[in-house]
Amino acid sequence: MANKHMLDIALDMFAATFNKKEEWKAQVYPVWDAGMERVKDVHLHKAILNICMKKHKYPPTLGHVVEEVQDVIRELGGTGMELKEYRFCEHCVLREGIREVSAHFLILASKERRVHTCVCRCDCDGAEQKYPQMGLWSDLQSKMQHDARITLMEWHMSDSWSSVLTMEQREPHNYARMRRVQKEREREGRRNPYMEIAKTMIAGNYVPDEPDLARRKPTQTFDNPTTEHYTNNEWTDRDNCPF
Ligand SMILES: [Zn+2]
Repeated sequence: MANKHMLDIALDMFAATFNKKEEWKAQVYPVWDAGMERVKDVHLHKAILNICMKKHKYPPTLGHVVEEVQDVIRELGGTGMELKEYRFCEHCVLREGIREVSAHFLILASKERRVHTCVCRCDCDGAEQKYPQMGLWSDLQSKMQHDARITLMEWHMSDSWSSVLTMEQREPHNYARMRRVQKEREREGRRNPYMEIAKTMIAGNYVPDEPDLARRKPTQTFDNPTTEHYTNNEWTDRDNCPF
């Protein structure tokens, strides 16, 4: 399943790292193509990166790449024993077994509204095989429904109709605030450049630039991570969330 473009990238990286000649790529291409038939792009990409960064006594071969791919899959949560295809249902196929959930509920003692957003696994066979450890969405739902401390008010979940949740569903507080600010600005007659872009996109003549990956900033890491949130909005205080 690795697509041709990804296979090209992988072979180029491999060739550059292990000093392969120009002809080498054309020679091994069909073998690699067949060997990587059931491998996903992300897994192949990570495996090639791992291989290129390791020290090798002898130049690695396709066999090493396949082994590395299995390691990567195992690392990412699969069993890694075989490169198998999972059969997902229509509701989770785009997210490969994952159902995104946003549950809105009321804490009875304080009468505060809270939102619990998380990912669960779907109840189809593919999801069960891929994520045997992950919680089932229906278990979470019934747990919340039977919890005497709260009242479950809204249940939003990704499905075949939409594989992602909207901002309104995930962060109703921030969405409401955004709409309020937008309306205020509209009333004041201030122009919103993003709405103009949106109009062009709807008209169909907007072509986004290719992302320039080389210019992307490196990932920032922190020596002393903090759990403090950037907002003091009580609604979003995750430490208050009973789940
Ligand atoms: Zn499913």
